[in-house]
Amino acid sequence: MKNSSASSHRTRDIDYRAGYLRPEHCAPPPPRAGSGGMWFIRDGCGITCGVITWMLVLYAQFVVAFVMLLPARNLLYSLVNGALFNSLAVLALASHARAMCTDPGAVPKGNATKEFIESLQLKPGQVVYKCPKCCSIKPDRAHHCSVCKRCIKKMDHHCPWVNNCVGENNQKYFVLFTMYIALISLHALLLVAFHFLLCYESDWTKCSNFSPPATVIFLILLCFEGLLFLLFTSVMFGTQVHSICSDETGIEQLKKEERRWAKRSRWMSLKVVFGHPFSISWLSPFATPDHGKADAYQYIV
Ligand SMILES: [Zn+2]
Ligand SMILES: [Zn+2]
Repeated sequence: MKNSSASSHRTRDIDYRAGYLRPEHCAPPPPRAGSGGMWFIRDGCGITCGVITWMLVLYAQFVVAFVMLLPARNLLYSLVNGALFNSLAVLALASHARAMCTDPGAVPKGNATKEFIESLQLKPGQVVYKCPKCCSIKPDRAHHCSVCKRCIKKMDHHCPWVNNCVGENNQKYFVLFTMYIALISLHALLLVAFHFLLCYESDWTKCSNFSPPATVIFLILLCFEGLLFLLFTSVMFGTQVHSICSDETGIEQLKKEERRWAKRSRWMSLKVVFGHPFSISWLSPFATPDHGKADAYQYIV
């Protein structure tokens, strides 16, 4: 940006009058392709991580069902644990799919056009933020993601495991994903522990449909997977809930940005992410949260 204004030394993407935004450099925004359009980031690393996540969950389901529960002699034990484990696994995968395919809150690309800026009717001295990378007028608390190549409202971080940014519109699904993965990991670990206890002194060949060495390898791999993911996702879950309650995204905590927004109460912040009012749908990845009609753009005076 060749901005000769005296105020240009502050930061690269802040301009002080609409005239300095150089809207002529911005292409007009593309026509809106229906709000129900599918969101999917074409990033090789993210897609690979997403596929690995699904394969690991499917592996756990396979070991739980075919190595541990089906050969077990107690039908009630197998039915209850099988139903619980598979329900949690389906919820985890559904949360993952929705976190991946939900627009996290992308700002329309190239909306920094002359018409749009004029339509804002800025008062003298009013500040707007413009992203030089995607030519959009940035709402407060939005950040540019170099993987998504878009500015994302209330961006927390870009997560390759869900191949998407975690932002205003999909944080609920991401939190549910970490919670359900932590729960199935814990459940799998408990099942493995019980299985070892039950089979330790009895004949291993009656404990599994597979040979004893194969059974042990399946169980040890599941243990590693369970421990790793329980640790990782429970820390992530805690961090996310903390950042929602303190109404500060991961990026804002890292950058130690000065708070320019009104701080909400913990309960209000949770409702903003999970929907209003509080209900069982908070736990469902199939229910779209009602984020309320918050102002699309907030400007700083
Ligand atoms: Zn941007
Ligand atoms: Zn991103």
